[in-house]
Amino acid sequence: ITERKHAEARVEHLAYYDDLTELANRRLLHDRLQQEIAVARRHGVHGALLFIDLDQFKHLNDALGHPVGDELLRQVAARLKDMVRAEDTVARLGGDEFVLMLPAQNKDLAHVGFEAQAVAEKVRSLLSRSYNLNGHQYHVTASIGIVLFPENDEDADDVLKHADSALYRAKEEGRNTVRFYQPSMQAAASTRLMLEKDLREALELESFTLHYQPQVDIEGRVSGAEALIRWQHPERGMVPPNQFIPVAEDTGLILEIGNWVLRSAVQQIREWQRRKTCTGSCRVAVNVSPRQFHQTNFVDQVLGICEEEGVAPECVELEITESMVMSNIGETIEKMEALRARGIRFAIDDFGTGYSSLSYLKRLPLDMLKIDRSFVRDVVSDPNDAAIVDTIIAMTSHLGLGVIAEGVETREQLDFLRERGCTHFQGFYYSPPVPAEELDSLIQAGRLRSARD
Ligand code: C2E
Ligand code: CA
Ligand code: CA
Repeated sequence: ITERKHAEARVEHLAYYDDLTELANRRLLHDRLQQEIAVARRHGVHGALLFIDLDQFKHLNDALGHPVGDELLRQVAARLKDMVRAEDTVARLGGDEFVLMLPAQNKDLAHVGFEAQAVAEKVRSLLSRSYNLNGHQYHVTASIGIVLFPENDEDADDVLKHADSALYRAKEEGRNTVRFYQPSMQAAASTRLMLEKDLREALELESFTLHYQPQVDIEGRVSGAEALIRWQHPERGMVPPNQFIPVAEDTGLILEIGNWVLRSAVQQIREWQRRKTCTGSCRVAVNVSPRQFHQTNFVDQVLGICEEEGVAPECVELEITESMVMSNIGETIEKMEALRARGIRFAIDDFGTGYSSLSYLKRLPLDMLKIDRSFVRDVVSDPNDAAIVDTIIAMTSHLGLGVIAEGVETREQLDFLRERGCTHFQGFYYSPPVPAEELDSLIQAGRLRSARD
């Protein structure tokens, strides 16, 4: 019986795996892709298929003989197998055609596209390293077509066909290239690549600046300011942070940018203290992005900057988001406690848009909740928004936290919020984010309106 089982297993293996490389074959890929498409449709998520083809393989194969060609294919397969995650599928369709399937896990098509692009670039550079064949070094490059699925009602055959036509474009456009099937994805990917390149340059040339938006208490006094990054691009003009922060986050550039923001904000605090614009207790809020916060040495970085610049940690408030906390609550609490023990304050930004429950908010060493501006916008006219704002304010008083409403644009919003017990405000009603010097003169001229006017 064992022998028969063995034989059966062998037959099954032959039916689903490629003999030469031991990778999945076309049939297995087709099955898995079909399944993946169904799952993706059910859950409203997207996956990606990378169609990989070696450039000029035929020449090499003819010139060196097929045994050497086979050895090259085996080495390519081994490299691919080494780099993928367990949940990815690598297949060989025959010849020098390989497929890498990234399972559908994310609802955000643009994000899936960007990840696929990053993986494709990694594959491209991995495969272009030299190969040792029969004691000689050889180089080959690869072209890659990417298709995201599902788009409409296509099946596995359609997806493979689309990946093939994307690959064809990559070959046409000079080989050693990555191309998307979806034109919109291609455009997004090129914009992102360009942004990434420009961001690196901006960091080197220090073409970022910080603007500051005052935060005002119920008496109309400026109680602090939020630092917001601005990027003056040489050709595009002012690029809003919502456009480049996500790219910086994806590429890891956010680590350097975040560090720059923190240091500049702390230097500005020192300057304000020197000029007596503010008393010793002046406070600047700095946005911290997830990747920055999750660095192992984040605590030391923050404290190090305060120490080096000679500014008390009490003057720095870090704005974090609910989702950031949720992703690893143990680590988050540890870091927050370490920083808070030294005086750093914490606010939860965009509060109300995430999934925080009262029970775990209680566990966080927090100082402040910032009511997201989407609730403030219609708070006067929309009873749902008003109810949410009420709940958040009640929560803060229950937890002994401060509360600030962001995006306050009108007197009506301000009055409404004040009536409900909100104590701090930020928004165009008082001032948009402005350069540091302008905030100075606003404060000195006493030109910020008081909530009691
Ligand atoms: P955020 O932290 O929620 O920042 C508040 C945003 O609301 C700012 O947009 C600000 O200009 C805008 N705003 C302020 N008052 C009003 C108002 O009355 N009405 C309206 N409609 N908007 C108002 P900004 O500067 O474009 O920043 C957008 C986002 O980019 C920020 O949202 C933040 O998430 C991110 N960001 C900005 N600077 C940094 C930074 O230095 N580091 C990181 N990680 N993220 C940053
Ligand atoms: Ca913020
Ligand atoms: Ca916010």
